[in-house]
Amino acid sequence: MASYDVIVIGAGPGGYVAAIRCAQLGLKTACVEGRETLGGTCLNVGCIPSKALLHASHQLHEAEHNFAAMGLRGKAPSVDWKQMLAYKDDVIGQNTKGIEFLFKKNKIDWIKGWAAIPEAGKVKVGDEVHEAKSIIVASGSEPSSIPNVEIDEKTVVSSTGALELPKVPKKLVVIGAGVIGLELGSVYARLGSQVEVIEFLDKVTPTMDGEVSKAFQRLLKKQGLNFTLGAAVQGVEAMKTKAKVTYKLRKDDSEHTVDADVVLVATGRKAFTDGLGLQALGVEMTDRGVIRTDKQWATNIPGIYAIGDAIEGPMLAHKAEDEGMAVAEVIAGKAGHVNYGVIPSVIYTHPEVASVGQTEEELKDQGRAYKVGKFSFMGNGRAKAVFAGDGFVKILADKDTDRILGAHIIGPSAGELIHEVCVAMEFGASAEDLALTCHAHPTFSEAVREAALACGDGAIHA
Ligand SMILES: Cc1cc2nc3c(=O)[nH]c(=O)nc-3n(C[C@H](O)[C@H](O)[C@H](O)COP(=O)(O)OP(=O)(O)OC[C@H]3O[C@@H](n4cnc5c(N)ncnc54)[C@H](O)[C@@H]3O)c2cc1C
Repeated sequence: MASYDVIVIGAGPGGYVAAIRCAQLGLKTACVEGRETLGGTCLNVGCIPSKALLHASHQLHEAEHNFAAMGLRGKAPSVDWKQMLAYKDDVIGQNTKGIEFLFKKNKIDWIKGWAAIPEAGKVKVGDEVHEAKSIIVASGSEPSSIPNVEIDEKTVVSSTGALELPKVPKKLVVIGAGVIGLELGSVYARLGSQVEVIEFLDKVTPTMDGEVSKAFQRLLKKQGLNFTLGAAVQGVEAMKTKAKVTYKLRKDDSEHTVDADVVLVATGRKAFTDGLGLQALGVEMTDRGVIRTDKQWATNIPGIYAIGDAIEGPMLAHKAEDEGMAVAEVIAGKAGHVNYGVIPSVIYTHPEVASVGQTEEELKDQGRAYKVGKFSFMGNGRAKAVFAGDGFVKILADKDTDRILGAHIIGPSAGELIHEVCVAMEFGASAEDLALTCHAHPTFSEAVREAALACGDGAIHA
């Protein structure tokens, strides 16, 4: 039996970051992981592999659509799917090995296997029981489905299966127009699949600012994705190499059937806490089935903490990471803090979509007086030079104080641009603060400045 200050359960972005910070703060730390490799959902079957496929398929899109206009002649590349998957796997390997290296460097023991918590202060892995003054549960999440839809990871797949299909399907039906469905739908549309997205609600990415959501759907449609919105999927019938999806339109209750070679079920994810023994321990869960914690990530059982996808909040890698760092600091007796009001979220399609803070709909609901500064990428020289004029930056600021309340970007490198606004918001900046900051020319970030200018006396290049 080994004794530790902290044992972290799960080596996803929440768990591995918590383990590294605990070790940096001088705590004797181990991390238990049931998978063969470190990095959790994010590095193995989530953020990283999906971005590799988005990158590769975007190169194809550029070659097919924009090369000739720039005077680059020649046949567009053809798709060697096996090699594309090998590239994706190589990227995964580089990243997961990187975490292994960081564990060694920080002297963190990687305990291989599935953990259970027989009692507070003890972690059981296989036949071994280890002791820990504090336990951090970072067990993450798994794909969830809807009634009458059974995932077999062959013809009816979750995101995990969609990242390793044996071939590019002719027809892909995506159930759910959330981030994961649209990112993977984009990948396959670019690779030549006919993609149909079926969504229960009347808009794509429903939590997003309404204006951005509309523009996003229009741009994806231009790229070949078809949408059936306001449709409740009734069931999926899977055959050996095909599937039939039945849905009812909510507006008139009419029933429709659509055939697919592959169906991607992207209806969300649920916390994964199986096998930990939390129920027997009496760890409180919320109505949504995630672990309940206080503001310092402590569960109701002393010495047991929880972070990441297994608790409340957006299921995002960077949210898990921030909680990982903060909980380590709390355990080490410092002041760990996460500002949940400034957690960006990004969709890595082309164009990218990014947002932080409040949406216009939320501000309206709160009855808050606000102003809007908007700037189109059509007025941005750099964007026009690289075929990226679609989209805009929208900044929401308090009407009286000018303090930035939110930002929503659809356009080139939106996922990078958003961080300028995040830093500004962390400092409680006004839109004028952004507008008065000199931005290099020609950069996409000038569009952020112009949107900030539009909150005041007006953008220059509008
Ligand atoms: C296709 C896809 C794309 C995504 N893209 C993005 C993105 O671009 N950006 C973003 O921010 N987020 C993205 N996400 C979400 C992101 O992956 C998660 O929010 C993040 O991984 C959560 O981190 P976590 O540490 O809480 O849990 P996870 O990453 O789920 O890690 C939990 C780990 O705990 C292990 N574990 C669980 N129980 C035990 C046990 N009892 N014993 C030992 N080990 C255990 C699991 O094996 C797993 O490795 C994506 C997700 C998917 C599926």
